[in-house]
Amino acid sequence: MHRLLPVRSTQDIRPQHRETPVGLLLEYHNLGREYDTYTQAQLLIGMCMDNRKHLHMPDNFAYIIRAGGANLRYSEFKVSYAIAVGGVKSIALIGHNQCGMVNLVARRELFIKGLVENAGWEQDLAEQHFMNYAPMFEIGNEIDFVLSEAKRLRTRYPKIQVSPLMYKVEDNLLYQIREN
Ligand SMILES: [Zn+2]
Repeated sequence: MHRLLPVRSTQDIRPQHRETPVGLLLEYHNLGREYDTYTQAQLLIGMCMDNRKHLHMPDNFAYIIRAGGANLRYSEFKVSYAIAVGGVKSIALIGHNQCGMVNLVARRELFIKGLVENAGWEQDLAEQHFMNYAPMFEIGNEIDFVLSEAKRLRTRYPKIQVSPLMYKVEDNLLYQIREN
């Protein structure tokens, strides 16, 4: 976690985030900046579906795509829509610690048993479902993943600012990430 840079005052906001929608997000969420009024989205946020996370920001400020591990690889049309039609010029990609999409194989039995018992699936279909999809949704390491996903999105959408951030579930704050 040594790569995480906290935001405890506006001085902590890195130069590349200042005067940008990402900097505003950091101010709204971490620093309690008073909400401005928006009629149009300024930002696209990609974040995990995890139930422990909630962002503090004004109405109309951002599009949000929530997908396990903040993995936008399978949400590309929605990303394109927010940029092309919604007019956003920045993406904040927010990973978080203790993410369920890390080491999925360790929860294989739990996943299969849960689908059988909670959803009424047949055992073999539940096993196939896990085996087919777990490799697509596994993220490995939360910070490394969000950095690599940010790189991928920058290549895909070269005129868009893409900022990887982390959300710590212990303090519910956003952190910048030192990129090499
Ligand atoms: Zn997660």
